[in-house]
Amino acid sequence: MTKLYIVATPIGNLEDITYRAVRVLSEVDLILCEDTRITKRLLDKYGINTPLESYHAHTSEGKHKYILDVVLGKKDVALVSDAGTPTISDPGVKIIELVRAHPELEVEIITVPGASAVTSALSISGLPSSEFLFLGFLPHKKGRKTLFEEIAQNKRTVAFYESPHRIQKTLKRLEESLDEKREVVVARELTKIHEQTIRGSAREVGLYFESHPEKVKGEFVVIVSAR
Ligand code: SAM
Repeated sequence: MTKLYIVATPIGNLEDITYRAVRVLSEVDLILCEDTRITKRLLDKYGINTPLESYHAHTSEGKHKYILDVVLGKKDVALVSDAGTPTISDPGVKIIELVRAHPELEVEIITVPGASAVTSALSISGLPSSEFLFLGFLPHKKGRKTLFEEIAQNKRTVAFYESPHRIQKTLKRLEESLDEKREVVVARELTKIHEQTIRGSAREVGLYFESHPEKVKGEFVVIVSAR
């Protein structure tokens, strides 16, 4: 049986990769990745020379067919994303669906676990995380209002991803919909030089960013305490 490895890579600090991930990425015949320049940086650090091919959210039907016909079932392949765990708010599900739809190819799907921004942020949040609701990226328009209502009513810790362009708007919406007692944790630039965790009510965290506009950049995970 050939193998399709779903390999987690660092979310910032290139040292956050497992020994197994380095070995698998060295041993497979091909690595499918979102941005070849980003993955190349990681491969160079670990002296890995495996060929790369791009695979991303806009990968065409034709390319999927090529991957299925030419590659899978013949070569061992690793799928990585730009950062963290593939398929978690990242591409990859479609290729797994394809493999599952073609059992005759006898491709085994194997996880090589590692970093993910959501679990990294939860792990330092100090909020109960035995159970949590993960919302990925919140929708920009349709369904956004309902989601804020859901967050307000939720009896579990809620986590989601946010961009620097929307973080302040989102904090404002949280301020409007949440009780003052609900704690909000914003984990920013995790594992990178400017890693930072800001905690408080939605209003307090919002005020922090208002008075520190230079911090409204990078990558963010937002965590909201349970109702
Ligand atoms: N699959 C990835 C994972 O497992 O973490 C997530 C991919 S998603 C396209 C990218 C989003 O994850 C960013 O917009 C940000 O919200 C979050 N993220 C990624 N790296 C981060 C970091 N170092 N610090 C904080 N958030 C991060």
